[in-house]
Parts: sequence; structure tokens; C-alpha cells
Amino acid sequence: MAQQITELVELKNRVDAWRKAGRCVALVPTMGALHAGHLALVKEARKQAEHVVVSIFVNPTQFGPSEDFSRYPRTLEQDMQSLQGLADVAWVPSVEIMYPQGQHSDTHIEGIGDDLEGAMRPGHFDGVATVVKYLFEQVRPDIALFGEKDYQQFCLIKRLVNDCGIDVSVIGIPTVREADGLAMSSRNRYLSKEERAIAPQLYQTMKVGIDLIKGGEPVQQVIGHTIEQLEKEGFTKIDYLELRAEDTLAPMTVYRAPARLLAAVWLGKTRLIDNVRVA
Ligand code: AMP
Repeated sequence: MAQQITELVELKNRVDAWRKAGRCVALVPTMGALHAGHLALVKEARKQAEHVVVSIFVNPTQFGPSEDFSRYPRTLEQDMQSLQGLADVAWVPSVEIMYPQGQHSDTHIEGIGDDLEGAMRPGHFDGVATVVKYLFEQVRPDIALFGEKDYQQFCLIKRLVNDCGIDVSVIGIPTVREADGLAMSSRNRYLSKEERAIAPQLYQTMKVGIDLIKGGEPVQQVIGHTIEQLEKEGFTKIDYLELRAEDTLAPMTVYRAPARLLAAVWLGKTRLIDNVRVA
């Protein structure tokens, strides 16, 4: 049974006892509304560490003023059920505990933090880097697990750990998808029935583009055709569709493996992101 902890001293006492006993501690940061994608991270954490802390915190500083912070799904009771037998502790801090000095972001990762998602959502990655740094300080885990669903975020956290000299191993877990290919996301519940029927086309269409790139077609041409195709399928706006180097996320106009094709698109009021490895 996962124990829900809301006080920092209690969390620290719990983790200190494990550390004193020489046990390996894993952290899985989440914003709750847990689905099978999150649980894949928790299950892997369970395999790799003796104790697992899952944080559940809808982080206000990573949402822009016109974004979905207030309507973001909050399903704590169900989340606690899902964590049964998988996590030791659900760390559920209040905004006041997480931001005792008031809500602000004090961490900026230059370059990667300003690009793609960072360019479309100014301040987003400052909020992510700040909260993850605080979580690392609170939990002091040996390992921390992140989903490749948010591939740029995963790269950003690796940079954060490196730049700040934080002693934690950052582990990436492949994207978990619905049977039709749609990447699982807490935001998929915003989709209407019609939008939900279109949504899997994002992954399917990206895969067609990837086959063309691997077959030697010019990258920019494939990107252009893929964007046109997505618009035909009913995606209402394409924020970006880009091929990037897998390790640095540097732009790539001529394909060289390993790469990632990354996309952010809209279906009505819902924004979907996805990425696929190209190798
Ligand atoms: P979130 O609650 O959306 O902030 O996600 C918490 C963690 O779960 C992040 O590391 C995400 O990348 C990861 N995650 C979310 N969806 C998926 C998915 N479909 N597959 C794998 N990991 C995921």
C-alpha cells in the first residue's frame, strides 16, 4: 500500500531511514492523472530500486497564463489505487510546500530550454527544471525515471543534472501507446470522440515520414509533405514537426542516425506532442 505523504519532514524521515539502511531509492515525478504510461515508469523503478517515491504535483510554474493549469485533471484517489503494490510513497506536496518563497522559476537551461517546446511555451522548461530540482533536493533519489514521451524534457533533465552536479542517474523509458498508436497522455481525456478518432494519425503519419527519410528522401521535403498530410487529416494547427539529432536535439537537415522526429500539433483546443526515434 503506497503511503500518501504531504509533509516534508515526514518525507525526509522516511527516505533518510532507507538511505541509512543503504537502500536504493527511485523517484518518478508526475502531475498525477496516472495512466499506463506513468505506471511503466513506476514498474521499472520498482525493478531498479528497493524503494519507490512517486511525486504527484500539478506544477503551476510550468503552465503559461493561457494554458490548462486550472482544468488539468486531478484524480488523487484513483492515482493512489493505481500505485498500490508499486510505490512505497506518493509525495503529494501543496503549492506552499513546493514554493515557500512564492511561485517562481529559478532555473533556466540555456539552449535546449528555449527550443521547440520551450519556444512555443515560454517559461515552461524553467518551471519544469525548477520543480524537478526541488524534487531532487527533497527526495534525494539515487535514480529518477522520465518518459521519452516528453523527449525534450528528458534531455533537459539530463542537462540539469549535469550542469548542477546533481548525484542522480536519469533513466528514460520508451513511450507507452494505446493500441491504435496514440501516445498515452493525461490530456487525451480532453479529446472529443471525433478528435480521438483523428489523434492516432499523428503517430501513423510520422512513421510514414520516417520511412521516407530513412529511404533517402530529402528531410525538408518529407517534413513539408508530412505537415500537409497532418492538416488534411484534420489536425487544426502544427506547432512544429522537426528532425533533430537524438543526443543534442540539434537541427538536422540531412539525416544521420540516430535522430528523433518531434511534433506538437493541435486538435481543436487540445495540444498533443509526440516523438519517434529514427535509426
Ligand atoms: P506528466 O504527469 O505528464 O508530467 O508525466 C510524468 C512522467 O510520465 C514524465 O516523465 C512523462 O514523460 C511520463 N509519461 C507520460 N506519458 C507517458 C507515456 N505515454 N509513456 C511513457 N512515459 C510517459
